[in-house]
Amino acid sequence: MIWRAAVATGVLVLACGVGVAAAQTTGPATAPAAAAPVTWSLAIHGGAGVIERSRLTPEQDQAYRAALSEALAVGAAVLARGGSALDAVEATARLMEDNPLFNAGRGAAIGADGTVTLDAAIMDGSNQKAGAVAGVMTTRHPISLARQVMETTRHVFLIGAGADQLARERGLEQVENSWFITPRRWRMLEQVLTEDGLPLPPRPPGLDLPPRPTSSMAGAQLAEDTRSVESRFGTIGVVARDSAGRLAVGTTTGGLTGKRWGRVGDAPVIGAGTWADRSCAVSATGTGEYFLRLTVARAICFEAERPGTSLQQAADTVIHRDLTGMGGDGGVIVMNAAGEAVFSLNTEGMYRGQVSSAAPARVMIYADEADGLVGTAAAARPH
Ligand code: ASP
Repeated sequence: MIWRAAVATGVLVLACGVGVAAAQTTGPATAPAAAAPVTWSLAIHGGAGVIERSRLTPEQDQAYRAALSEALAVGAAVLARGGSALDAVEATARLMEDNPLFNAGRGAAIGADGTVTLDAAIMDGSNQKAGAVAGVMTTRHPISLARQVMETTRHVFLIGAGADQLARERGLEQVENSWFITPRRWRMLEQVLTEDGLPLPPRPPGLDLPPRPTSSMAGAQLAEDTRSVESRFGTIGVVARDSAGRLAVGTTTGGLTGKRWGRVGDAPVIGAGTWADRSCAVSATGTGEYFLRLTVARAICFEAERPGTSLQQAADTVIHRDLTGMGGDGGVIVMNAAGEAVFSLNTEGMYRGQVSSAAPARVMIYADEADGLVGTAAAARPH
Protein backbone atom coordinates (compact mmCIF):
# COMPACT_ATOMS: atom_id res chain seq x y z
CA MET A 1 0.00 0.00 0.00
CA ILE A 2 2.59 2.45 1.13
CA TRP A 3 4.88 1.50 -1.71
CA ARG A 4 2.19 2.20 -4.21
CA ALA A 5 1.83 5.66 -2.71
CA ALA A 6 5.56 6.19 -2.83
CA VAL A 7 5.81 5.20 -6.47
CA ALA A 8 2.87 7.39 -7.36
CA THR A 9 4.50 10.45 -5.93
CA GLY A 10 7.88 9.70 -7.42
CA VAL A 11 9.84 9.73 -4.23
CA LEU A 12 13.56 9.43 -4.71
CA VAL A 13 15.89 6.98 -3.14
CA LEU A 14 19.28 8.62 -2.99
CA ALA A 15 21.88 6.18 -1.86
CA CYS A 16 24.80 8.04 -0.43
CA GLY A 17 28.09 6.29 -1.01
CA VAL A 18 27.44 5.38 -4.62
CA GLY A 19 30.19 7.01 -6.67
CA VAL A 20 27.97 8.51 -9.36
CA ALA A 21 24.42 9.82 -8.97
CA ALA A 22 22.33 6.71 -8.60
CA ALA A 23 18.86 7.98 -7.94
CA GLN A 24 15.90 5.74 -8.51
CA THR A 25 12.24 5.95 -7.86
CA THR A 26 11.00 3.93 -4.96
CA GLY A 27 9.57 0.56 -5.05
CA PRO A 28 10.67 -1.58 -2.18
CA ALA A 29 14.07 0.01 -1.56
CA THR A 30 16.99 -1.84 -3.07
CA ALA A 31 20.42 -1.82 -1.45
CA PRO A 32 23.06 0.08 -3.38
CA ALA A 33 25.51 -2.28 -5.06
CA ALA A 34 29.01 -2.32 -3.53
CA ALA A 35 28.74 1.07 -1.87
CA ALA A 36 32.06 2.71 -1.07
CA PRO A 37 32.53 3.45 2.63
CA VAL A 38 31.47 6.93 3.58
CA THR A 39 33.76 8.97 5.81
CA TRP A 40 31.49 11.98 6.09
CA SER A 41 28.11 12.87 4.69
CA LEU A 42 25.82 15.90 4.55
CA ALA A 43 22.22 16.42 3.41
CA ILE A 44 20.14 19.60 3.44
CA HIS A 45 16.63 20.82 2.70
CA GLY A 46 15.32 24.29 2.05
CA GLY A 47 11.62 23.61 2.44
CA ALA A 48 8.96 21.51 0.73
CA GLY A 49 5.68 22.33 -0.94
CA VAL A 50 3.94 23.12 -4.19
CA ILE A 51 6.99 23.56 -6.37
CA GLU A 52 6.02 22.78 -9.92
CA ARG A 53 8.33 23.27 -12.88
CA SER A 54 5.89 25.71 -14.44
CA ARG A 55 5.93 27.89 -11.31
CA LEU A 56 9.66 28.55 -11.16
CA THR A 57 11.31 30.69 -13.81
CA PRO A 58 14.66 29.39 -15.06
CA GLU A 59 16.30 32.18 -13.04
CA GLN A 60 14.50 31.17 -9.83
CA ASP A 61 15.33 27.53 -10.45
CA GLN A 62 19.00 28.42 -10.89
CA ALA A 63 19.03 30.70 -7.86
CA TYR A 64 17.71 27.93 -5.60
CA ARG A 65 20.15 25.38 -7.01
CA ALA A 66 23.05 27.78 -6.55
CA ALA A 67 22.00 28.49 -2.96
CA LEU A 68 21.74 24.79 -2.17
CA SER A 69 25.12 24.07 -3.79
CA GLU A 70 26.76 26.85 -1.83
CA ALA A 71 25.31 25.53 1.42
CA LEU A 72 26.53 22.01 0.66
CA ALA A 73 30.00 23.34 -0.10
CA VAL A 74 30.20 25.11 3.25
CA GLY A 75 29.19 22.05 5.27
CA ALA A 76 31.33 19.71 3.18
CA ALA A 77 34.41 21.86 3.80
CA VAL A 78 33.91 21.53 7.55
CA LEU A 79 33.46 17.77 7.37
CA ALA A 80 36.27 17.18 4.86
CA ARG A 81 38.80 18.80 7.16
CA GLY A 82 37.69 16.53 10.00
CA GLY A 83 35.28 18.97 11.62
CA SER A 84 32.40 17.74 13.74
CA ALA A 85 28.91 17.05 12.47
CA LEU A 86 27.65 19.74 14.84
CA ASP A 87 30.00 22.35 13.40
CA ALA A 88 28.99 21.38 9.87
CA VAL A 89 25.30 21.63 10.74
CA GLU A 90 25.73 25.03 12.35
CA ALA A 91 27.89 26.48 9.55
CA THR A 92 25.54 25.24 6.83
CA ALA A 93 22.42 26.43 8.62
CA ARG A 94 23.89 29.88 9.28
CA LEU A 95 24.51 30.39 5.59
CA MET A 96 20.98 29.31 4.72
CA GLU A 97 19.51 31.49 7.47
CA ASP A 98 21.14 34.51 5.82
CA ASN A 99 19.79 33.68 2.37
CA PRO A 100 16.47 35.47 1.69
CA LEU A 101 15.37 32.65 -0.60
CA PHE A 102 14.69 30.50 2.45
CA ASN A 103 12.18 30.89 5.25
CA ALA A 104 14.75 31.14 8.01
CA GLY A 105 16.54 34.23 9.28
CA ARG A 106 16.55 36.99 6.67
CA GLY A 107 13.60 36.45 4.35
CA ALA A 108 11.65 34.38 6.87
CA ALA A 109 7.86 34.19 6.81
CA ILE A 110 6.17 37.14 8.55
CA GLY A 111 3.47 36.73 11.18
CA ALA A 112 0.07 38.45 11.16
CA ASP A 113 1.36 41.21 13.45
CA GLY A 114 4.07 42.15 10.95
CA THR A 115 6.97 40.68 12.91
CA VAL A 116 9.29 37.78 12.26
CA THR A 117 9.59 35.19 15.02
CA LEU A 118 12.11 32.43 14.44
CA ASP A 119 12.27 28.86 15.72
CA ALA A 120 15.33 26.58 15.64
CA ALA A 121 16.71 23.38 17.12
CA ILE A 122 19.99 21.53 17.06
CA MET A 123 20.74 18.02 18.31
CA ASP A 124 23.91 16.02 18.83
CA GLY A 125 23.17 12.40 18.01
CA SER A 126 26.23 11.08 19.83
CA ASN A 127 24.77 11.97 23.23
CA GLN A 128 21.20 13.11 22.46
CA LYS A 129 21.92 16.57 23.78
CA ALA A 130 19.63 19.15 22.27
CA GLY A 131 19.02 22.88 22.26
CA ALA A 132 15.99 24.73 20.91
CA VAL A 133 14.55 28.23 20.70
CA ALA A 134 11.19 29.61 19.63
CA GLY A 135 9.83 33.09 19.01
CA VAL A 136 13.28 34.63 18.60
CA MET A 137 13.03 38.21 17.30
CA THR A 138 16.46 39.81 17.26
CA THR A 139 19.08 37.06 17.00
CA ARG A 140 20.51 36.86 13.50
CA HIS A 141 21.42 33.18 13.68
CA PRO A 142 18.86 31.16 15.66
CA ILE A 143 20.75 27.92 15.02
CA SER A 144 23.75 29.28 16.92
CA LEU A 145 21.47 30.33 19.74
CA ALA A 146 20.00 26.82 19.88
CA ARG A 147 23.55 25.51 20.17
CA GLN A 148 24.27 27.92 23.00
CA VAL A 149 21.19 26.65 24.81
CA MET A 150 22.45 23.10 24.38
CA GLU A 151 26.05 23.73 25.33
CA THR A 152 25.95 26.52 27.89
CA THR A 153 22.71 26.14 29.86
CA ARG A 154 21.05 23.34 31.74
CA HIS A 155 17.93 23.77 29.65
CA VAL A 156 16.80 22.42 26.31
CA PHE A 157 14.15 24.87 25.09
CA LEU A 158 14.00 28.65 25.54
CA ILE A 159 11.35 30.94 24.10
CA GLY A 160 10.84 34.60 23.23
CA ALA A 161 12.58 37.41 25.08
CA GLY A 162 14.49 35.03 27.33
CA ALA A 163 16.00 33.30 24.33
CA ASP A 164 17.08 36.59 22.76
CA GLN A 165 18.49 37.65 26.12
CA LEU A 166 20.67 34.55 26.27
CA ALA A 167 21.90 35.41 22.77
CA ARG A 168 22.92 38.89 23.93
CA GLU A 169 24.64 37.46 26.99
CA ARG A 170 26.57 35.01 24.83
CA GLY A 171 27.59 37.75 22.38
CA LEU A 172 25.57 36.48 19.42
CA GLU A 173 24.87 39.09 16.75
CA GLN A 174 21.65 41.05 17.26
CA VAL A 175 19.62 42.79 14.54
CA GLU A 176 16.42 44.82 14.34
CA ASN A 177 13.42 42.60 13.70
CA SER A 178 12.84 44.55 10.47
CA TRP A 179 16.22 43.27 9.21
CA PHE A 180 14.62 39.87 8.68
CA ILE A 181 11.81 41.32 6.58
CA THR A 182 12.12 41.32 2.80
CA PRO A 183 9.75 42.98 0.29
CA ARG A 184 8.86 39.60 -1.22
CA ARG A 185 7.74 38.20 2.12
CA TRP A 186 5.83 41.38 2.96
CA ARG A 187 3.85 41.14 -0.26
CA MET A 188 3.15 37.51 0.64
CA LEU A 189 1.91 38.55 4.07
CA GLU A 190 -0.38 41.20 2.55
CA GLN A 191 -1.83 38.60 0.24
CA VAL A 192 -2.45 36.05 2.97
CA LEU A 193 -3.96 38.55 5.41
CA THR A 194 -6.19 40.01 2.73
CA GLU A 195 -7.43 36.55 1.82
CA ASP A 196 -8.06 35.83 5.51
CA GLY A 197 -9.88 39.16 5.95
CA LEU A 198 -7.38 40.31 8.59
CA PRO A 199 -6.02 43.85 9.02
CA LEU A 200 -2.62 44.70 7.60
CA PRO A 201 -0.01 45.65 10.20
CA PRO A 202 2.06 48.81 9.70
CA ARG A 203 4.87 48.27 7.26
CA PRO A 204 8.42 48.62 8.68
CA PRO A 205 9.86 52.03 7.76
CA GLY A 206 12.18 51.92 4.77
CA LEU A 207 10.81 48.70 3.30
CA ASP A 208 10.52 49.38 -0.42
CA LEU A 209 7.93 47.18 -1.98
CA PRO A 210 7.77 46.23 -5.63
CA PRO A 211 4.80 47.90 -7.35
CA ARG A 212 1.49 46.12 -7.04
CA PRO A 213 0.37 44.40 -10.21
CA THR A 214 -1.88 46.68 -12.23
CA SER A 215 -3.79 44.33 -14.51
CA SER A 216 -6.19 41.72 -13.21
CA MET A 217 -4.09 39.15 -15.02
CA ALA A 218 -0.98 40.17 -13.10
CA GLY A 219 -3.04 40.27 -9.90
CA ALA A 220 -4.19 36.73 -10.46
CA GLN A 221 -0.62 35.72 -11.11
CA LEU A 222 0.51 37.31 -7.83
CA ALA A 223 -2.24 35.52 -5.92
CA GLU A 224 -1.25 32.28 -7.56
CA ASP A 225 2.45 32.83 -6.85
CA THR A 226 1.72 33.80 -3.28
CA ARG A 227 -0.26 30.69 -2.59
CA SER A 228 2.42 28.67 -4.29
CA VAL A 229 5.30 30.37 -2.55
CA GLU A 230 3.54 30.36 0.77
CA SER A 231 2.91 26.68 0.58
CA ARG A 232 6.55 26.15 -0.30
CA PHE A 233 7.35 26.74 3.34
CA GLY A 234 11.12 27.28 2.94
CA THR A 235 12.31 26.07 6.31
CA ILE A 236 15.93 24.94 6.28
CA GLY A 237 17.37 21.74 7.70
CA VAL A 238 20.75 20.01 7.80
CA VAL A 239 21.82 16.50 8.79
CA ALA A 240 25.46 15.46 8.95
CA ARG A 241 27.66 12.51 9.80
CA ASP A 242 31.29 13.29 10.57
CA SER A 243 34.42 11.19 10.16
CA ALA A 244 34.16 10.08 13.80
CA GLY A 245 30.75 8.59 12.98
CA ARG A 246 28.72 11.16 14.93
CA LEU A 247 25.37 12.37 13.62
CA ALA A 248 23.92 15.85 14.13
CA VAL A 249 20.91 17.79 12.91
CA GLY A 250 19.67 21.37 12.84
CA THR A 251 16.46 23.04 11.66
CA THR A 252 15.48 26.74 11.47
CA THR A 253 12.23 28.35 10.35
CA GLY A 254 10.13 31.48 10.40
CA GLY A 255 7.07 29.24 10.46
CA LEU A 256 4.03 30.01 8.34
CA THR A 257 3.12 33.35 6.74
CA GLY A 258 0.39 35.14 8.69
CA LYS A 259 0.79 32.90 11.77
CA ARG A 260 -0.79 34.26 14.98
CA TRP A 261 -1.05 33.97 18.75
CA GLY A 262 2.49 32.90 19.47
CA ARG A 263 2.25 29.92 17.17
CA VAL A 264 5.21 27.52 17.22
CA GLY A 265 5.61 24.75 14.67
CA ASP A 266 7.47 21.47 14.67
CA ALA A 267 10.95 22.69 13.75
CA PRO A 268 12.19 23.48 17.30
CA VAL A 269 10.31 20.64 18.95
CA ILE A 270 12.70 17.78 19.60
CA GLY A 271 11.30 14.62 18.08
CA ALA A 272 8.80 16.41 15.84
CA GLY A 273 10.78 18.46 13.30
CA THR A 274 14.27 17.68 14.57
CA TRP A 275 15.84 14.52 15.95
CA ALA A 276 19.24 12.79 16.12
CA ASP A 277 20.51 9.79 18.02
CA ARG A 278 23.48 7.51 17.44
CA SER A 279 21.98 5.79 14.44
CA CYS A 280 19.54 8.21 12.83
CA ALA A 281 19.06 11.95 12.24
CA VAL A 282 16.03 13.71 10.72
CA SER A 283 15.08 17.28 9.83
CA ALA A 284 11.53 17.96 8.63
CA THR A 285 9.69 20.63 6.71
CA GLY A 286 5.99 21.04 6.07
CA THR A 287 2.85 22.12 7.88
CA GLY A 288 4.19 21.87 11.40
CA GLU A 289 0.92 21.05 13.10
CA TYR A 290 0.87 17.59 11.50
CA PHE A 291 4.53 16.93 12.19
CA LEU A 292 3.92 17.79 15.84
CA ARG A 293 0.99 15.41 16.14
CA LEU A 294 2.96 12.58 14.56
CA THR A 295 6.35 13.36 16.14
CA VAL A 296 7.60 12.69 12.64
CA ALA A 297 11.34 12.90 13.15
CA ARG A 298 11.48 10.50 16.10
CA ALA A 299 8.89 8.23 14.49
CA ILE A 300 11.09 7.76 11.43
CA CYS A 301 14.10 6.82 13.55
CA PHE A 302 11.92 4.43 15.53
CA GLU A 303 10.71 2.81 12.29
CA ALA A 304 14.31 2.52 11.08
CA GLU A 305 15.17 0.39 14.11
CA ARG A 306 12.81 -2.36 12.98
CA PRO A 307 14.84 -5.31 11.70
CA GLY A 308 14.83 -5.50 7.93
CA THR A 309 13.58 -1.96 7.46
CA SER A 310 15.60 0.26 5.16
CA LEU A 311 16.05 3.94 5.90
CA GLN A 312 13.91 4.81 2.89
CA GLN A 313 11.15 2.48 4.02
CA ALA A 314 11.20 4.02 7.48
CA ALA A 315 10.94 7.54 6.07
CA ASP A 316 8.23 6.62 3.58
CA THR A 317 6.16 4.79 6.18
CA VAL A 318 5.85 7.94 8.24
CA ILE A 319 5.56 10.41 5.35
CA HIS A 320 3.40 8.45 2.91
CA ARG A 321 1.33 6.39 5.29
CA ASP A 322 1.04 8.46 8.45
CA LEU A 323 1.48 12.06 7.32
CA THR A 324 -0.46 11.65 4.10
CA GLY A 325 -3.11 9.66 5.97
CA MET A 326 -3.59 12.53 8.37
CA GLY A 327 -3.81 15.08 5.56
CA GLY A 328 -0.43 16.69 6.26
CA ASP A 329 2.13 17.78 3.72
CA GLY A 330 5.88 18.13 3.66
CA GLY A 331 9.10 16.18 3.59
CA VAL A 332 12.17 15.05 5.49
CA ILE A 333 15.87 14.45 5.12
CA VAL A 334 17.12 11.39 6.97
CA MET A 335 20.63 10.05 7.60
CA ASN A 336 21.90 6.91 9.31
CA ALA A 337 25.15 6.16 11.09
CA ALA A 338 26.71 4.89 7.85
CA GLY A 339 26.08 8.28 6.27
CA GLU A 340 23.37 7.00 3.96
CA ALA A 341 20.98 9.86 3.22
CA VAL A 342 17.41 9.58 1.97
CA PHE A 343 14.64 12.05 1.23
CA SER A 344 10.93 11.47 1.47
CA LEU A 345 8.22 13.98 0.56
CA ASN A 346 4.55 13.99 -0.33
CA THR A 347 4.64 17.41 -1.98
CA GLU A 348 5.45 18.38 -5.57
CA GLY A 349 8.90 19.42 -4.53
CA MET A 350 11.45 19.98 -1.83
CA TYR A 351 14.59 22.03 -2.15
CA ARG A 352 17.27 19.56 -1.18
CA GLY A 353 20.83 18.44 -1.67
CA GLN A 354 23.38 15.90 -0.65
CA VAL A 355 27.12 15.37 -0.72
CA SER A 356 29.51 12.91 0.91
CA SER A 357 33.14 11.85 0.93
CA ALA A 358 32.14 9.18 -1.59
CA ALA A 359 29.69 11.02 -3.83
CA PRO A 360 29.64 14.39 -5.60
CA ALA A 361 27.22 17.11 -4.61
CA ARG A 362 23.75 16.99 -6.07
CA VAL A 363 20.83 19.32 -5.62
CA MET A 364 17.21 18.70 -6.47
CA ILE A 365 13.93 20.58 -6.39
CA TYR A 366 11.10 18.55 -7.91
CA ALA A 367 9.77 15.32 -6.45
CA ASP A 368 10.50 13.30 -9.54
CA GLU A 369 13.97 14.67 -10.07
CA ALA A 370 16.54 11.93 -10.29
CA ASP A 371 19.81 13.65 -11.08
CA GLY A 372 20.98 16.77 -9.40
CA LEU A 373 24.68 16.59 -10.01
CA VAL A 374 26.45 19.88 -9.46
CA GLY A 375 29.35 21.53 -11.28
CA THR A 376 32.07 19.36 -12.77
CA ALA A 377 30.20 16.21 -11.85
CA ALA A 378 27.25 17.47 -13.88
CA ALA A 379 29.51 18.28 -16.82
CA ALA A 380 30.92 14.77 -16.77
CA ARG A 381 27.49 13.18 -16.71
CA PRO A 382 26.86 10.90 -19.68
CA HIS A 383 24.05 12.24 -21.90
N1 ASP B 1 7.51 23.20 9.56
C1 ASP B 1 7.53 24.64 9.61
C2 ASP B 1 6.49 25.10 10.61
O1 ASP B 1 5.40 24.57 10.60
C3 ASP B 1 7.23 25.30 8.34
C4 ASP B 1 8.07 24.84 7.21
O2 ASP B 1 8.58 23.74 7.17
O3 ASP B 1 8.25 25.64 6.28
O4 ASP B 1 6.77 26.03 11.33
